[in-house]
Amino acid sequence: MLKTVTLIAIMFIAGCASSKTYTPPQTVEGLRSLYTQLNRVSAITHNILVANSPICSKLKTYYGFIPMSLKEQGNEEQKKLVIKAFHLKKQPIVTYVDPKRAADKAGLRVGDVIISANDNRWSDTKSPDEFTKLLGEAQQSSHLRLGILRDQKKLTLDLTADMACDYSFILSDTNEHKAMARNSEIIVDFGAAKLLKRDDELAFFISHELAHILLGHTLPERGKELANYKMRNIMEKDADALGVRLMVRAGYDPAGAETALKSSDLIDSGPVTKFFNYHGPYMPVDKRIRYLRKVLSE
Ligand SMILES: [Zn+2]
Repeated sequence: MLKTVTLIAIMFIAGCASSKTYTPPQTVEGLRSLYTQLNRVSAITHNILVANSPICSKLKTYYGFIPMSLKEQGNEEQKKLVIKAFHLKKQPIVTYVDPKRAADKAGLRVGDVIISANDNRWSDTKSPDEFTKLLGEAQQSSHLRLGILRDQKKLTLDLTADMACDYSFILSDTNEHKAMARNSEIIVDFGAAKLLKRDDELAFFISHELAHILLGHTLPERGKELANYKMRNIMEKDADALGVRLMVRAGYDPAGAETALKSSDLIDSGPVTKFFNYHGPYMPVDKRIRYLRKVLSE
């Protein structure tokens, strides 16, 4: 399981397959477009994970920035593409700052070069991979002191982490329009992120899948229930009812749930998720929207 967004970004960008079918983009534009959606899905997912942290038993720290660095191993052609797309340097460089979160509040900016994290200095480490690992570990503590280089000036920034539910997400590089839950991971298709232009819409997809995880639907022992039509319908209704509340708690407009369902229904002639195909026989969209409205009015 991928623990942090940072790792996911590095995995994607460095071209390490997160699934067997993954093929990294072959152009700078393709890479940037995938990365833009990765950051957007990350920001929405983490808004939901932070806002709902009081109901989660296991928490993780979240700082809201993505440092990118190249893995020492890896395909040389892809490395060239990544360096070009993100102007990478030897040290990790900040390629994304999540608005409203710790890094943004502390003044971290895209383009900042990270030269130290807590007591670990880039210049003291033996290899880029070692520093990347230490930086990842430092992000698991509740305070983070970052040494950065900006316009050739050295700055020190102090960050205090937000606490978020300890779940991760993957942006799957496919043009399908699904989201699904697997173990403790929320998987969002690149196609779904592009289709759902409003954050409120994407928040519904993500919240619904998080609800499946929180309700224990992805546990291996629930497999039998998933195969049962009646049980499956109950699980979907429960995930909808909880999901829409999770998104509202994170400040998203529940009207986004309705337009998300309508547009994904139009494009796929099928409902939102197909977790082991268990949305196949689920409620028609108009009925599902009426059900969501009823949940919110209670
Ligand atoms: Zn579902």
